[in-house]
Amino acid sequence: MLRYLRPCLYIRSVQELDLRALTARGIRAIILDLDNTLIAWNAEESRSDLVEWVRGVRSAGFSVCIVSNNLAERVTRFSRLLGIPAIPRAAKPRRSPFKRAMQLMGSTAQETAVVGDQLFTDILGGNRLGLYTILVVPLDRQEFFLTRLMRKLEGWTLDRLEARGWIRRPPRPEG
Ligand SMILES: [Mg+2]
Repeated sequence: MLRYLRPCLYIRSVQELDLRALTARGIRAIILDLDNTLIAWNAEESRSDLVEWVRGVRSAGFSVCIVSNNLAERVTRFSRLLGIPAIPRAAKPRRSPFKRAMQLMGSTAQETAVVGDQLFTDILGGNRLGLYTILVVPLDRQEFFLTRLMRKLEGWTLDRLEARGWIRRPPRPEG
């Protein structure tokens, strides 16, 4: 079980994603989580640097698709804003929304990465399909109450993964 919770990569934020390294791995499609990965949980404002980042990813040759467990209205709004497709109410870690995203992007599992802030939805779901899974540090502490409970379990799991030398926590930003 622990094996399925192990991210292939653990970084601080999407902005730290090394696009060239992904390309070198043969990855050309990226599934993106929305809340606390791209934007703080239930935050309404969107940052122009996020729009810029998505633009940069696409011009580097990647297809992108949001896969979110959040409600359609919110997810669709960001999908429009960023100009990328999205699958709301995804019920991650179920496999079907990831498969649908790959269908939309025309990519195989080997060509697809998933980026998210939660072990038990983003990483578990991606690993079940053999995707290249990338964990990011959540943007905000304020979260859905069930998510907060899951964070405790997640912290415990991250400790186990680290104890086995399977992951290394990204360093805190300086200052
Ligand atoms: Mg999230």
